[in-house]
Amino acid sequence: MNVVLSDEERLLILSKLSTAQREFLEQIRVSRRSRIIESLAKKRGSGVDSTKTLEQWDFVGYDDSGFGNRHFKCDHCGMSLRYRFTVVSLTSGEKTHIGRDCLESFYGIPSSVAEAIYRGNHSIHLDLDELLYKFENGWNLEDEHIKIPDGFRLDPSIERHLNLGLR
Ligand SMILES: [Zn+2]
Repeated sequence: MNVVLSDEERLLILSKLSTAQREFLEQIRVSRRSRIIESLAKKRGSGVDSTKTLEQWDFVGYDDSGFGNRHFKCDHCGMSLRYRFTVVSLTSGEKTHIGRDCLESFYGIPSSVAEAIYRGNHSIHLDLDELLYKFENGWNLEDEHIKIPDGFRLDPSIERHLNLGLR
C-alpha cells in the first residue's frame, strides 16, 4: 500500500496520538536516518568522511525547476539554480535553500550524498505516513488475518509498536 498524506492530514492524525506514540514514531525516524548515514559512510569513496557533519544537517527537500529553468536561488551565493536542496540545521532548526556547489564548499557534503539522504528521508516519510494511515483507520492484526502463535517472540520494536496501539 502506498499512502501519501497531505500535511494537514498528517498533523490531524498526529494530534490524535499519545505522546508515547509520537515519540515512538520519532525514534523510528531518527534510527532509520542514522542507518542510512552509516551505510553511506561505509561505502568507499562515497565522500562521507565524518558522520558528525551529517548528524547536524538534514535534507528535507530536493527540487528541480525543470530542464532549461533556473527558478530557485541559493541562499549562500545568490546564484540562480535549477536544482535546490532544502537543508535544516538540527541544532537551530534554521532552514536554508542551497545549490549543489555551495553544499560541497560550505558543508563539505557531496550533492550525491545529500541526494541519497534526501531520498532515504523521503522513503521514511512514506513509511510513517502508512503507519499513521493504518492507525487512523483502526487497522489491526486480526483484519490482516495474521495470528501470532502463543509464545512467539516478536521483535521488541514491533512489540512496543503493538503495545502502543499503533497497529
Ligand atoms: Zn550557492
